[in-house]
Amino acid sequence: MLSVINPATEEVLATLKTDDEESLKAKFTRLKKYQFTWQQVLFEQKKAALVKFGELLVLNVDRLSKLLSQEMGKPIKQARSEIKSTPSRIAFFVENAAVILADKKLNDSQEEVHEVIRYEPLGVIANISAWNYPYFVGGNVFLPALLTGNCVLYKPSEFSSLSGQAMIELLYEAGIPQDALQVVIGDGKIGKMLLDQPIDGAFFTGSKATGLKIAAQVREKMIPLQLELGGKDPTYVAEDADLDAAAKALADGALFNAGQSCCSVERIYVQEKVYQPFLEKIVAEVQKAKMGDPLSYETYLGPLTRKTQLDLLDEQIKDAQEKGAKVLCGGKRVKGSGYYFEATVIADAHRDMSCMKDESFGPIVALQSVKNDEDAITQMNDTEYGLTAGVYSQSLERAQNILRQVNTGTAYVNCCDRVAAGLPWSGRKNSGIGSTLGLEGIRAFLKPKAWHIKRL
Ligand code: NAD
Repeated sequence: MLSVINPATEEVLATLKTDDEESLKAKFTRLKKYQFTWQQVLFEQKKAALVKFGELLVLNVDRLSKLLSQEMGKPIKQARSEIKSTPSRIAFFVENAAVILADKKLNDSQEEVHEVIRYEPLGVIANISAWNYPYFVGGNVFLPALLTGNCVLYKPSEFSSLSGQAMIELLYEAGIPQDALQVVIGDGKIGKMLLDQPIDGAFFTGSKATGLKIAAQVREKMIPLQLELGGKDPTYVAEDADLDAAAKALADGALFNAGQSCCSVERIYVQEKVYQPFLEKIVAEVQKAKMGDPLSYETYLGPLTRKTQLDLLDEQIKDAQEKGAKVLCGGKRVKGSGYYFEATVIADAHRDMSCMKDESFGPIVALQSVKNDEDAITQMNDTEYGLTAGVYSQSLERAQNILRQVNTGTAYVNCCDRVAAGLPWSGRKNSGIGSTLGLEGIRAFLKPKAWHIKRL
């Protein structure tokens, strides 16, 4: 059984029956039997079901956002925004998948041997997901996978299973057959068991540590593997930046969703001439974050989702202080019930501190002064991760020139912490393999078949 704990109150919200080897096998077999039929269902029918799903999300946003807020502590306004933004991702997938799926004819039909590329779905795929944006990170996989004719075993995180189940119910209501999609409930042990099924692709969003385990486990299956992993995302504030705008945006980039975003701003490098004034501005912005009950519309900063993360943040702050950093605001967990941690700014950080190396995944941000652009490039690249990086500067040319030299899948100029349906979302180095979203995020669910058709 799985207990779902409300991280704001520490009360048990629900108890769910988890899957086991037998139920996983039955679910896999059910989907495998149906997959070729689903592949042949007309694209327009699949598209209609996903569009309807988007409409149902909006119609049910009050109930769904409350559930999301209660099970993972996301402030209600942010929960509503995530759910209401999902239909725009659906729109991108349905508008672009047909072109990608279309046959590509390589030669004139008069040739003796007709050469054509046709795209086929992978088959039955496992979608193992994180909890921090269940609608986005789950949907980035199961939406294009279903649309391109795959059947999906979707395992939401044990920290967002109620939202995962709610999504699946609405997908059924919208017309996706139960034979094409099944939800798997449980923690990492169940995720591991799921990967033991003879799946045709593994799509994972989560930590680097789990990503490595999954890569090792599926290695001998010879199946497509996609890993969307963590980050330690840096931003450089140059001396010509609009400091007020940068401080406001970067405080939000560090604290939104309690800093529990893969692309949260975790490291800020500031050109030395503007380091002091920028510190003052970002502290002022961070201190505006209103902490409280995630169900209140006034709340911007909710609790962390996982209790264990409080210990990690305590350790990062202790380590930073011992190595000479200053905590300018926040710096500790909040007494009482709920997994709350204060919004924190750490100044004078450097590369040997855990807060500059290891993903924090909490409402803390660390700053370091740098001499010049070259120094900033070196510091930004000094990480095992490669998800996103940003530059704030009045010169778009200078910012782009810097970011061309930083090894990340996403580059932000005068902005941060954003994802767009049409742009591929991909991590480099230990931030992952493959892409979701963009056209690449549709192609990922297809394999080409090369046809040579000789006329008689
Ligand atoms: P996690 O790795 O703890 O768990 C992710 C999922 O994997 C869960 O469903 C879990 O039950 C499952 N799991 C755990 N062990 C497993 C195993 N051995 N085999 C199979 N499945 C297993 O990560 P999390 O705490 O849910 O998510 C936070 C992490 O996700 C952060 O590092 C964050 O940066 C990353 N993330 C990345 C992206 C991205 O797009 N790059 C998006 C969201 C979150």
